[in-house]
This record gives sequence, structure tokens and C-alpha cells, in this order.
Amino acid sequence: MRALTVAPGIANSARVEDVADPPSSDGAIVVRTLAIGVCGTDREIVCGHFGWAPPGETRLVIGHESLGIVQEAPPDSGVSAGDFVAGIVRRPDPVPCPSCAVGEWDMCRNGRYTERGIKERHGFGSQFFRIEPDFAIKVDASLGVAGVLVEPTSVVAKAWDHTERIGQRARSWQPQTLLVTGAGPVGLLAALMGAQRSLDVHVLDHHEHAAKRELVRRLGGTYHVGTLADVRLKPDVLMECSGAPSVVRDVLGNTAASGIVCLVGITEPGHGFDVDLGALNRTMVLDNSTVFGTVNANRLHYDMAGEALQMADKTWLDALITRREPVEHWTQSLQRQPDDIKVIVDFS
Ligand code: BGC
Repeated sequence: MRALTVAPGIANSARVEDVADPPSSDGAIVVRTLAIGVCGTDREIVCGHFGWAPPGETRLVIGHESLGIVQEAPPDSGVSAGDFVAGIVRRPDPVPCPSCAVGEWDMCRNGRYTERGIKERHGFGSQFFRIEPDFAIKVDASLGVAGVLVEPTSVVAKAWDHTERIGQRARSWQPQTLLVTGAGPVGLLAALMGAQRSLDVHVLDHHEHAAKRELVRRLGGTYHVGTLADVRLKPDVLMECSGAPSVVRDVLGNTAASGIVCLVGITEPGHGFDVDLGALNRTMVLDNSTVFGTVNANRLHYDMAGEALQMADKTWLDALITRREPVEHWTQSLQRQPDDIKVIVDFS
């Protein structure tokens, strides 16, 4: 079968090639792939900065944002032939650590987790993949190809779940305003979930993008272009989804009292900035503010993601998917184009 592969650690080693059918050890459910979403993590893997092949192998089948149609499934697996599914990305570490032992692999403590398409396990970017019933998420077929957004939405759902749990440390916590920095798919999905919580939503982008402006407007939100200083807002919740070092510096401590900064975007090391730690510490302590990081998602968050997508306007979700590349040209999906929001590789 055809697969999207890369040699992790080696820049520009991405290609399409024939690989063996997925082994039954990958899981009892056989899925025919419909679409794979491409994200910043995939670009980093293809640049050779991130990613690990399975032990003893040199190439990794990439692709962790999946949508497929079940071909075969055991009777007690919760899905049946014809269902749309997405695969959970992370697998618990083998120890397992206390988090993985209770199904919170997204909070793995020892770093020995594996991730499909990212860390030591082949991904979903092949014509067929297999998956274990406990790691298959049934997707509402009415979402169509937008079902490929379940995985990025799960990451955002976890960010919301943890933000709300932190907020509840104060019994009176009732957030009104949300600022999202970064208007990529993750930022826009964070804004969607903020709008679903009836918050006053603001999204900060680094340059004007007409389609993103329109998507934010359709959520009832406000689209800003520039830097944080231009926005002049101290939100109750700030979700940093750009991963841009200068934006990360700017968001620290930049909330209303009891505010929460949630770091979702991932930054590369090697960016030193002057930060007045005295002022930051003083603000954070006197305002009871929080800054926390979040990555990945567990099954609860995939379920939350499915619900958020089901509640969303389908035409809004479809508008997030701006480009579809055929499998044989999948490397073109990695090259950023000005109109891009979410780019997918079309296996259908
Ligand atoms: C994925 C997460 C993953 C993270 C780090 C993200 O792109 O969505 O599932 O944990 O990369 O590997």
C-alpha cells in the first residue's frame, strides 16, 4: 500500500512509497484512510527537527491527524464496518507511570509514551491502517472530511478542560473574555470552543488573512492583526497557539486578575528574550495568575472534540480546510501557501 514516509532526523527525506500492510499487532480494527491533516509537527518532522522511527527501523509512516472508514472490526469494538473513525495519537508508556496507568497518557510522567506518526510508532498516513478498539474514535459521518479535525480539536479540548479546572480553584470564577494568539487551525478551533462557551472571543493574527477574519467574525468574535500591545486587552483566558517566541514572551502575565495563560503552541529552543522577571513575578503573585502548558489529549478530550465539532456550523468547519493534496503529491502539502489554513492529504 502507498504511504507517506520520512526518515526522522534527516531533512527533506519525505516521500511516497509502498510499504507492507499494517500488522495485526497495530490493532483489530482495519481502517481505509480518507484524509490526513498536516500540521506544524509534521513540518518539523520533515525538516529533521523532530520525530522518531519505530525501534530498528529508519523510516516513519507520518500522519497523526486521521480520518478513515472502518473496513473490519470485531463485534465488541464499539465501531462497525462503514463507520467513520479517527485514531488516538498517543499510547501509554510501558511502565506504566501513574498517569498512563489511569488512561491519562497525555500527562505521561516519564516520557516513554509513543505517538503514532510522531514517536516510535507508524502513523495513519497510509492507504489502510489498523487501530486498537480503545484508541479508535467514532466520528459523526455528517462531518464529512471535517472529521479530520477531531485530532487537533482534541488538543484544544484538553486545553479547555485544564483551563476550566484551574479556573475552578476560585469558586467565583466566571470568565468573560478569551484572547487567542495565533490564527492557525488550532487557534481558530480554540476560538470556536470559546464561542461555544459564550465568551467574548478575540483572535490575534500576525498578518491580515481575509478568510480567517471572516471565520472569526462568524464566531461573533473580533479579529486583530499586529502584536499584543495593539490589542489592549487583559483577557480572563489567553490561549497561546502561535508558538512564536516573541508572542510567548508578550502573553506572560498579560491577563486580568486570576487570569489563565494556556500555552498550546510549541516553540523551538534558542530564542533568548529580555523579560523583567521581577515585574512578571509581582504581577502573577498579586493577581493570582496562572501560566501552564498543555500537550496531546486523552480519550475524554477526543470525546469532547467530537461534541464540539458536532455543535459547530459545518460550513465553518469546511472553510478551515483550504487545500487538499493528492497522496502522490503529499510533500506539496508541507509548503505553506498564503491562503492556507488546514491542508489535508486526500486518500479518498
Ligand atoms: C500532536 C500531539 C502530540 C504533539 C507532540 C502535536 O502535533 O497533535 O498529539 O502530542 O504534537 O508530539
